[in-house]
Amino acid sequence: MNETLLEVSHLKTYFPIRAGLFRRVVGHVKAVDDISFVLPKGRTLSVVGESGSGKTTVGRTILRLTDITDGEVKFKGVNIHKLKKHELRKLRPKMQMVFQDPYSSLNPRMKVGTAIGEALLEHGLATKQDVREKVEGALVKSGLEAVHYDRYPHEFSGGQRQRVGIARALVLNPEFMILDEPVSALDVSIQAQILNLLVDLREQMGLTYLFISHDLSVVEYISDDVAVMYLGTIVEHAGRDELFDHPLHPYTQALLSAAPIPDPTLKRERIILKGDIPSPANPPRGCRFHTRCPYAEARCREEVPQLRDMGGGHLVACHFAG
Ligand code: SF4
Repeated sequence: MNETLLEVSHLKTYFPIRAGLFRRVVGHVKAVDDISFVLPKGRTLSVVGESGSGKTTVGRTILRLTDITDGEVKFKGVNIHKLKKHELRKLRPKMQMVFQDPYSSLNPRMKVGTAIGEALLEHGLATKQDVREKVEGALVKSGLEAVHYDRYPHEFSGGQRQRVGIARALVLNPEFMILDEPVSALDVSIQAQILNLLVDLREQMGLTYLFISHDLSVVEYISDDVAVMYLGTIVEHAGRDELFDHPLHPYTQALLSAAPIPDPTLKRERIILKGDIPSPANPPRGCRFHTRCPYAEARCREEVPQLRDMGGGHLVACHFAG
């Protein structure tokens, strides 16, 4: 096993709910509620789940873009949430995030080359003399051309903009990247190109990815390991092939049953889940999935199922899995 790059232990991220004239705290949205995992260097772990599962909050808390409520996030053994501001600034270039819509974070009046170069200058990783060369190098690595340096964001297509987002992360020479739904806004043919680029970059630069997505076909393509999230918790975590071939949690089985199969001669029985994902401000007692689970029994309404190793590191949180 490769050395550990990222270790997340009992991570909790709660957001206060305020009400009344004095904005008193009347409850909490438990966006992430006690999750743990280890990400070895050079691997890709996908975090998959519906909207509202807490997966984006996991990414933001790891990078300390959101405050942690409890638990630990260690990057190369260093507890990110205990660092002083100047220490965190030094580490920032090593941990980058690519968002679904890079356009919203680009200044429409600034040339993309200048925007990408800003972070390099800010972190003291380039001088005014060599910043252009470094930015052009990152653009080319991301499948664009050096001439794109002088273009404005509106001159790019959706796929090219995502390449700009990737170039902006790459230019800082990161070790770890969080990719938050990086291809969900793109056409399928463009999705494949961006995914291939990400795979190539991982190999060339020895990168480690945390890939956040709701799309199982994309996750199956890019991941080494997969963690399935439901309502702020991990309900199943396994190697990619193991998870796709032998899903053990009823929620994972339902997600997979809804995913398209490339072979039209194969049919999968669709498991329809009841209702919507409940509010993380008021999660159900016992197993959080019991309000939608087709196999729920009385025990599920009372007792929280723990993640259990079913063999070979395949972890499942269900009383009846196995
Ligand atoms: Fe369904 Fe019960 Fe398993 Fe939860 S513990 S997933 S409700 S069978």
